[in-house]
Amino acid sequence: MNDTNTMHAALRGNATTIAIETDADEIETALAQWWHDNTRDLPWRFGRTTPWGVLVSEVMSQQTQMGRVVPYWTAWMERWPDAAALAEAPKSDVITAWGRLGYPRRALRLRECAHVVACDYADELPRTYDELLALPGIGDYTASAVLSFAFGERIAVIDTNIRRVLSRAFVGVESFGGAASPAERALAKRLLPDDGFAKCRRFDRPSVVWNQSVMELGATVCTAKSPLCDACPIAAQCAFLRNGRPGLGERRTRPRQRFQGTDRQVRGLVLNALRGLPDGETTLDRGSVEKLWKDHVQLDKCIASLDEDGLIEILPGGGVRLPD
Ligand code: SF4
Repeated sequence: MNDTNTMHAALRGNATTIAIETDADEIETALAQWWHDNTRDLPWRFGRTTPWGVLVSEVMSQQTQMGRVVPYWTAWMERWPDAAALAEAPKSDVITAWGRLGYPRRALRLRECAHVVACDYADELPRTYDELLALPGIGDYTASAVLSFAFGERIAVIDTNIRRVLSRAFVGVESFGGAASPAERALAKRLLPDDGFAKCRRFDRPSVVWNQSVMELGATVCTAKSPLCDACPIAAQCAFLRNGRPGLGERRTRPRQRFQGTDRQVRGLVLNALRGLPDGETTLDRGSVEKLWKDHVQLDKCIASLDEDGLIEILPGGGVRLPD
């Protein structure tokens, strides 16, 4: 095995002390400066919204670019500013407001989450990892992100962007797709800055700035296929660049699925037709449904799956509508 293969194997495994090939303090300083000078001014950042607003932004941003999320998040929070308001909203309104964010089951899971927060936590998001993880639709990433970004807790946030930046900059190799390995988790924890007794606003704490800045760098500069190393604030320290960017562009993650002709497209067509009904109309009759997609076998399969997911109701006669 050459060095790159050795490092890949270590990152995939259980090692708790992978060799770091660069100066972590210098990278932390450079990234913090870059974050303060360049970050996108999104409405859920810098303490401008509630912890619930941060959670909504994180759920919406899964699978959807943050820039696209802004108008949806803004309208959503105006309409349902807290968990109690969302918990009372009709499902049909929630599905309609989710618009083209994609993966609309997330909207219903968020509403279920709102129910639990409103009923079991008096409309305040809980502040422990285990309680957050137990909420409907909330996984490790979202629980950690809310603890760090909303509450200022010191916790390693691990998503695809962060894994890519850490493995490139500190270990000098490409990251992998799939679930984070124990070694990657250990690396993220080890690199998380100490907050010490820093007396600053919660969103300015070193660990919070670190999580946000590494994630932002991965989203905007150190992208998967075409990292902008010439514009990167940590180019001087980056082990991957120093090594000649070995394996850049190698497909380690699943190739992106085509959309045209997929069940996702057909499900989207049905939901969009329901969302677009004129005021006062709630039902698409069977004839209108059949005009949406030529292949009626695929169409019916998708309608059945939307019904199973609770996103639509099938009516006698084959019409459909959004649930109440
Ligand atoms: S120098 Fe290039 S590879 Fe290294 S962190 Fe910056 S953008 Fe990523």
